[in-house]
Amino acid sequence: MTKVKAFAAPSEGAPLVATIVDRRDVGPDDVQFDVLFCGICHSDIHTVRGEWGKQTYPLSPGHELAGKVTAVGKNVTKFKIGDHVGVGCLVNSCLNCEPCKTGHEQFCQNGAIFTYGSTDRDGTVTQGGYTQSAVINHNFVVSIPKNLPLDAAAPLLCAGSTLWAPLKRWNAGPGKKVAIIGFGGLGHVGLKLAKAMGAEVTVLSHSDKKKEDALKMGAFAFHKMDKAAFDSLKENFDLILNTVSVTVDTAGYYELLKFDGAFVVIGADPTPTVSLSTSVGVSKQRVFTLSLISGVQETQDMLNFCGEHNVLPEIEVIPASYINEAFDRVVASDVRYRFVIDNSTM
Ligand code: NAP
Ligand code: ZN
Repeated sequence: MTKVKAFAAPSEGAPLVATIVDRRDVGPDDVQFDVLFCGICHSDIHTVRGEWGKQTYPLSPGHELAGKVTAVGKNVTKFKIGDHVGVGCLVNSCLNCEPCKTGHEQFCQNGAIFTYGSTDRDGTVTQGGYTQSAVINHNFVVSIPKNLPLDAAAPLLCAGSTLWAPLKRWNAGPGKKVAIIGFGGLGHVGLKLAKAMGAEVTVLSHSDKKKEDALKMGAFAFHKMDKAAFDSLKENFDLILNTVSVTVDTAGYYELLKFDGAFVVIGADPTPTVSLSTSVGVSKQRVFTLSLISGVQETQDMLNFCGEHNVLPEIEVIPASYINEAFDRVVASDVRYRFVIDNSTM
C-alpha cells in the first residue's frame, strides 16, 4: 500500500480538503501512473454533494485522469514507464459477460466498477483522480496520443468518451444535423467531436452568453431556447444530445427531432419525461434513449480520433486549493469550458 496526496470530501456536501488516500501495490496486471491532471466533471459534484444517493466518505472524486506511467506489472505489455495514459469512468468489470466482450464494460452484468465511490472486487471503495498517483488494471487504462497536451486531454476521458459513443452510434457525420443541448464541459466537447466528424452542429443553450464561443468553435447555429426558438426548430434535427445538468423540457426538445431521429439523454435529469404518443413519437419512428459514458475501446478510438483531428477541450487549469470554488462556478454555468486540476499542487 502506498500513501498518496489527494483532495477528498470528508462527508456529504462538505468542502473538499487535502488528505491522503491509499493505493494498492502494483499487481501483475496493474499500471501505476502519476496523475498529472484531472478534469472536474459535473458528476463529481453531483456525487460528493449527495445528489446521486449515499456515498462512503471520505471520497476523492475525479474520472478524467491524465498522466505518465511510473510502473507496470509483469503481465502488462501495452504500456511502459513514461507513456502518456488516461483513465476515465471505469476501473474494473468482469470482462466475460456479453456487454464486456462487446466493448460495453459500463454495462457489465456482474457489476461495472466506477473510478470513484464503487466497491471494488477486493472490497475497497474506489478513489478517483483528485490524487497524485493511481494504480489501475491495464484493461481500463488508455493511451493518450503524444500530440495531445495532457492537461487539455484530461476532459476527453469522460466528457469526450461520453459524447463520442452516441455520436458514433447514431452516425453523426456529413449530411447529419446534430443539436447539443447545454454548452458546458460535455456540450462543448460534443460540438468539437461532431464538427470533426463532419456533421452540422447546432447548440441549444439557456442563455445568450456562450453564443460567440460556440460559433468560434464551429457551431452552425446557436439558439437561446425560448418559445420562438422551439417553434422555429420543429422537426429539424437527426440527433439531439441533452447534456444539461438539471431537468429540461424534454418533451419540447423531442419535437425538434426529424422523422427517424434520435434523442439521447446524457445529462443528469433523473426523471426525463416525454409523451410517446403514436401521432408524435412512434409514427415518426423517433428514438428516445439514454447513454452512459462509453466502453474502453470506444474511449481509445475517441482519443485516437482527437489526436488525428486535433480535437481539444477548452480548459482552465487550476490549483487543487481552488477545487471548491471551481465546483460552485460549474454549478453556476460559469466555466469556460472545463476546469482541470494541476495535481502537482496537492
Ligand atoms: P456542466 O459543465 O455544468 O454543463 C452543464 C450545462 O447545463 C451548462 O453548461 C448549461 O449549459 C446547462 N445548465 C446548467 N444549469 C442550468 C440551468 N439551471 N438551467 C438550464 N441549463 C443549465 O456539466 P458537464 O460536466 O458537462 O455534465 C453535464 C451533465 O451530464 C451532468 O449532469 C453530468 O453529471 C452528466 N454526465 C453524464 C454522463 C453520462 O454518461 N450520461 C457522463 C458525464 C456527465 P448552457 O449554459 O449552454 O445552457
Ligand atoms: Zn464525468
